Amino acid sequence: SDDFDSVELLNDKLLGGLLADGFHEKSCLSRYQSPIFGKGLSGKPSSYLISRLRKYEARHKQCGPYTESYNKTVKEFGSGQFSDSLDCKYVVWISFSGLGNRILTLVSAFLYALLTDRVLLVDPGVDMTDLFCEPFPDASWFVPPDFPLNSHINSFNQESNQCHGKMLKSKSITNSTVPSFVYLHLAHDYDDHDKLFFCDEEQLFLQNIPWLIMKTDNYFIPSLFLMPSFEQELNDLFPKKEKVFHFLGRYLLHPTNNVWGLVVRYYNAYLAKVDERIGIQIRVFDTDPGPFQHVLDQVLACTLKESILPHVNREQNLNPSSGTPKSKAVLITSLSSGYFEKVRDMYWEYPTETGEVVGIYQPSHEGYQQTQKQFHNQKAWAEMYLLSLTDVLVTSSWSTFGYVAQGLGGLKPWILYKPENRTAPNPPCQRAMSMEPCFHAPPFYDCMAKRGTDTGALVPHVRHCEDMSWGLKLV
Ligand code: GDP
Repeated sequence: SDDFDSVELLNDKLLGGLLADGFHEKSCLSRYQSPIFGKGLSGKPSSYLISRLRKYEARHKQCGPYTESYNKTVKEFGSGQFSDSLDCKYVVWISFSGLGNRILTLVSAFLYALLTDRVLLVDPGVDMTDLFCEPFPDASWFVPPDFPLNSHINSFNQESNQCHGKMLKSKSITNSTVPSFVYLHLAHDYDDHDKLFFCDEEQLFLQNIPWLIMKTDNYFIPSLFLMPSFEQELNDLFPKKEKVFHFLGRYLLHPTNNVWGLVVRYYNAYLAKVDERIGIQIRVFDTDPGPFQHVLDQVLACTLKESILPHVNREQNLNPSSGTPKSKAVLITSLSSGYFEKVRDMYWEYPTETGEVVGIYQPSHEGYQQTQKQFHNQKAWAEMYLLSLTDVLVTSSWSTFGYVAQGLGGLKPWILYKPENRTAPNPPCQRAMSMEPCFHAPPFYDCMAKRGTDTGALVPHVRHCEDMSWGLKLV
C-alpha cells in the first residue's frame, strides 16, 4: 500500500533509523539526499546503537549551548568549586590539522562522548561551519562565541598546567580537588604521560571533570577497544567492529548545501551514467610536489594487475566492436594534475583490450595543501565524498583523506604501498583488511602490568595496519 511505501521510503531516507527525523530538509540537503546515489549503508546498525544515538540527542538538547544546564556549568568555571549536582559534562573538540584528520578525530571524540555520557561541542575553527551541517536536532554542536575558554583554545599544549599528561608528570592530581577542566593532548607528538588517557584508571579520574578539552589529529578509536571499561558497551554498540567509522561517520558528517552542490553536480555530470565507477586517490608525501613517474607507474601497475582498469592495445589501433561496450568512469583525486593527464591520454590514444570505454576525471588540482582557505577545504570534502560513492577504490598509504572516503563509502580499498627512495614498490598495492581508518600513533602500553606491550597482538579485532606497521586498526 501507499502507506507502507512511504514508511519504507522514510526509513531509507533515515538510513534505516540511524538518522534522527525532524530536521528542515532544505537546511541540509545532504542529510536526506545521500541515498540518491544508490549507496545506502553497508550493513545494518545495531538497534542498541540507534537507541544510544537517540539518547545522546536528548542529552545534547538538554545540555547544548545556552541551555539552563550549560549556563550553570559555565558559571562554575571561575569559582573553582564544583557542585556534584551538575547535570552535564562535555568534551570540547579543538579544530586542528588537515580535513581528513579532523573528520577522523570528530568521529573519535563523538564516540568517546557517547561512551562517557558527555556532550560533544565542536570548536568552529576557521571553516567547520562551511563544511558540516548540524548533526543533532534542536541544539547546536558548535562551541558558542562567548565560551569562557575560547581565547585559550588555540594555545593549549603539553606545557599547559591543565594538560592531563603534565598534571600526571608533576603529580599535581589530588583526590580532594576536581579541576573544572582538563586539556587532553592526544596529538601525534603526545608523550607517555598523555597516553595514560587510554588507561581505565585515568578514565576514573577524568570521569568527574565537567569539561575535557581535546586536541588530536588521530583516529584513536582502536585503542578504546582495548580498554576493559569500554569493552562491553562497544561490543553491544558494534557487533561488527569494522563498521564503527562507517556508521558514526554517516550519522555525524553531512556536507553543507554548498559542498553538497559540488558533489551532486560533479556526480551527475561525470559519474552517474556509467556501468562502473572507480576512485583513485593519489596522495604523495614528498616535499617536492611532483608529479612523479614512479607514482604513475605504481598506480597503473596496481590497477592493471588487479583488473581494476583494462589494458590498452598499443600495437593494433582497432576498436573491438561487438554490442554496447561497458563504460567505466575513473575519478582521480590529487593535488597535482599530472597523473590524471597521463592516464586520460593513454585511454584516448589507445583502445582498451576489452573494448570498455574509460573516462578519466579529476575535479580539482589545488597544487598544495592550503589549510586556511575556505573553498579549498569545501572541494577537499566534496572530493572525499565523491570517492566514497565509487564502486572500487584505490587509496594512498598513510592518507586520512583516503580513510574518510573508504569509511564513508563502506569500501575495502586497494592501498598503494608507500614508495621508498622514489621507486614504485612491488607489489604495488594490497587489498585492505577492513574499511576502518588506521590509528597512526597508538600507545604500546599495558596499563595493568605497567609495561610496554604490542597492542596490535592482544585481541583479534585490533590489528596492525596494512599501510603503517606500527598503526592499529579495527577489523
Ligand atoms: P592527509 O594529509 O592525506 O592525511 O589528509 P588531510 O585531509 O588531513 O590533509 C590533506 C589536505 O590537503 C586536505 O585537507 C586538503 O586540503 C588537501 N588535499 C590533499 N589531497 C587532496 C586532493 O586530492 N584534493 C583536494 N581538493 N585537496 C587535497
